Amino acid sequence: NLSDKLDKALHVLKGHGQITEINVAETLKEVRRALLDADVNFKIAKEFTNRVKEKALGQNVLTNLQPGQLMVKIVKDELTELMGGDAEGIDLSSTPSVILMSGLQGSGKTTFSGKLANFLKKKKNRKSLLVACDVYRPAAIDQLHVVGEQIGVEVYSDRGNTDPVAIAKAGVAHAKAIGASVVIVDTAGRLAVDEVMMTEISNIHKAITPNETLFVVDSMTGQDAVNTAKAFNDVLNFDGVILTKLDGDTRGGAAISIKSVVDKPIKFIGTGEKMEAIDVFYPSRMAERILGMGDVVSLVERAQEQFDEEQARKIQKKIAKNKFGFDDFLSQIQQIKKMGNMKDLMGMIPGMGKALKGLDIDDDAFKHIEAIIHSMTPDERSNPSKLNTSRKKRIAKGSGRSIQDVNQLLKQFDQMSKMMKMMQGGGGKKMMQMMQN
Ligand code: GDP
Ligand code: MG
Repeated sequence: NLSDKLDKALHVLKGHGQITEINVAETLKEVRRALLDADVNFKIAKEFTNRVKEKALGQNVLTNLQPGQLMVKIVKDELTELMGGDAEGIDLSSTPSVILMSGLQGSGKTTFSGKLANFLKKKKNRKSLLVACDVYRPAAIDQLHVVGEQIGVEVYSDRGNTDPVAIAKAGVAHAKAIGASVVIVDTAGRLAVDEVMMTEISNIHKAITPNETLFVVDSMTGQDAVNTAKAFNDVLNFDGVILTKLDGDTRGGAAISIKSVVDKPIKFIGTGEKMEAIDVFYPSRMAERILGMGDVVSLVERAQEQFDEEQARKIQKKIAKNKFGFDDFLSQIQQIKKMGNMKDLMGMIPGMGKALKGLDIDDDAFKHIEAIIHSMTPDERSNPSKLNTSRKKRIAKGSGRSIQDVNQLLKQFDQMSKMMKMMQGGGGKKMMQMMQN
């Protein structure tokens, strides 16, 4: 699959001391092949690899990453950008906000309608109304009712009515009547793009002027997905894409192609048949998924970017000699702040999650910690064992914190020292090495 191929491609670079024109070309040939295999459009794949090449050669001297890591980073960054920058939400500003589903039959519209209503209910505390506009198959209406019952969301349908436009309008009116803040209009699709379907969805679209028109696409349809997306976008100028069936080993080549062709954000992904199988789309996560390398890669990057290596080495020596003091703690905190949330960071290392329980350091707490440390004398900072009750009282007064805060910091300091020692030894050693490579 795509992931294995990219792994192989990136492997070509490992062990090479420097990114050169030659090993970049070798790697990118593989990357391009991998993208093509995942149904990424040829032109897009080529543009992509050209951009990566430029970046790779340009950045060579400006970084202390190893060539392999640098390539991983560049490929990942470019993939992320290609799939759309930051995650975008959906527009829920109107009351009610109307969301129209479009897409081929079997793409997952009905399922996703339910997932979205469930998501909005659980995560955003929103009351939705589901509207059944698939008038061609009685089973389609039943299906939406089953979904609605499952998640406890009301479904509006009108079995005698064969006019989807009228049903959609009546559905919106009903939403107002029952005080639903979101209306999700599920429509009929056909197996392939045709005039009848396009006219119908276009008429519904005009009649209810949705806040969001979403195009639902089965991510396993590959290259065809691009043509379908284009056809729907030409008629609806939709607001966002929903990629369904991203469970299993679908690698998401469709995400890259669709985004490049219609230039609309991918908003959610479907990852299974259950109502809970919905995720907000994050381009960077998708890039990672496509690259198949997991969070370790991003850990390396962040650590590489932010960690002052010299400092790390000095501190390691001090830990080894049991000379780790509050000044070091302070500078560690500053490093950690630069790197982002420490727990997040450490949580990426298998097995580290547990070690961090109880070590609750958030940004605000950082300020308090800094105030307390600043109130210590240099001697106290280097020799924390000297901190008796009267000294602690003085420090508490000086920093405007309570004696409990001071005690808590001492406890955290102790835990941190222990943790750092642990990292020196067993499981954490690898991480320290990664940070310094
Ligand atoms: P519609 O015709 O566009 O309304 O598509 P449906 O919502 O009826 O979905 C078609 C089939 O795909 C159903 O069997 C769904 O259970 C299945 N399905 C929908 N979304 C997903 C998904 O994210 N993952 C998986 N594995 N199956 C899905
Ligand atoms: Mg349906």
